[in-house]
Amino acid sequence: MSAYQIAVIGGDGIGPEVMAEALKVLRAVTGAGLSLSWEEAEAGATLWERTGEDLPKETLALCQGADAILFGATGLPNVRYPDGTEIAPQITLRFVLDLYAGVRPIRLYAGLPSPLAVPAGRTIDYVMFRENTEGLFASRGGGARVGSSLALDSLVITRAGTERVARRAFEWCRRRPGAPADGIRRVTCVDKANMFRSFALFRQVFQEVAREYPGIEAECAYVDAMSMYLVQAPWHYDVIVLENLLGDILSDLGAATVGGLGVAPSGDIGDRWALFQPSHGTAPDIAGKGLANPLAMILSAAMMLRWLGDRRGDPAAVEAADRIERAVGLVLAKGIVKTRDIGGSATTRDVGEAIQKALGA
Ligand code: NAD
Repeated sequence: MSAYQIAVIGGDGIGPEVMAEALKVLRAVTGAGLSLSWEEAEAGATLWERTGEDLPKETLALCQGADAILFGATGLPNVRYPDGTEIAPQITLRFVLDLYAGVRPIRLYAGLPSPLAVPAGRTIDYVMFRENTEGLFASRGGGARVGSSLALDSLVITRAGTERVARRAFEWCRRRPGAPADGIRRVTCVDKANMFRSFALFRQVFQEVAREYPGIEAECAYVDAMSMYLVQAPWHYDVIVLENLLGDILSDLGAATVGGLGVAPSGDIGDRWALFQPSHGTAPDIAGKGLANPLAMILSAAMMLRWLGDRRGDPAAVEAADRIERAVGLVLAKGIVKTRDIGGSATTRDVGEAIQKALGA
């Protein structure tokens, strides 16, 4: 039996609420060849207010010693460092643990409301690879500010950083069935290479890596046009690779086309460690009301099991991931329960319980 130790960080706002449901679901798939145990640790804005620390060394050590990290969400708009930026240990972890690939699947499950008119026979199913450790976020905690009259941040692109995320994107694409519109395996590079030297290098390195994968179509698009294409014809896309801030923004746009942030999972994956968390934040507007949709968190837990299974060659973990995704698909397709964000009135707990029940079905 394979055994995995998971570091669990609920965080702030709705983070602990959605995490509680994901842990129930993980408990329900444990057994039958899969042993999971976890330890919870603190991080985030609430902790920072209380102790002056947002990512204690014990929490970091737990993450470094675990097989994988499951993360809720952290940060609160009114809790800020003296430089005016927000408490964001999730970003610190990406840099410290070198979680360079932000993997964000955008998938329209049957039963989910899309604001787009999806033609018959078409669907939305692509994966964004957000470069996670460079780009404009490399400036975080740095930059420069002159009083209240001037501030600047720099965007960093390196050959090594671009190569590794692009390779990950092509490797991921190899295992997919291709774009929903035409079945063609395709990786799209999104940038602003017409204007900035940094993005011109990003595109150049992407195109060099693309030549290593002759069986996969490689194309490029400017980010302004891409925000239109992702609304007009998202079914054309299979895998997308892009700079950190562009990925931050376009992945929320993508999530909006498939039901919103409440159903958008993600994985921050490096060569040694990986952290799985919903794409959403702490949603202070709905925290503590039982309104949060736990599906993004639950699907992130499924991504974690698939990553563990692939890494260890462990069919039990992959099967557990499949079971969770099938259970989510079943609950949505049958409209068994839905939270308010996707057109229902169920509570966070109702949804977690429905997924557990569907796992037994
Ligand atoms: P948000 O993702 O928290 O919320 C945006 C909107 O989506 C809100 O209307 C919210 O109610 C809704 N929403 C989000 N998750 C939902 C869910 N599971 N179910 C139902 N509705 C959901 O983004 P924001 O309001 O811009 O940010 C709030 C805080 O979260 C900020 O402090 C921000 O810095 C932080 N944040 C953290 C992370 C992270 O931990 N990875 C990511 C993004 C934002």
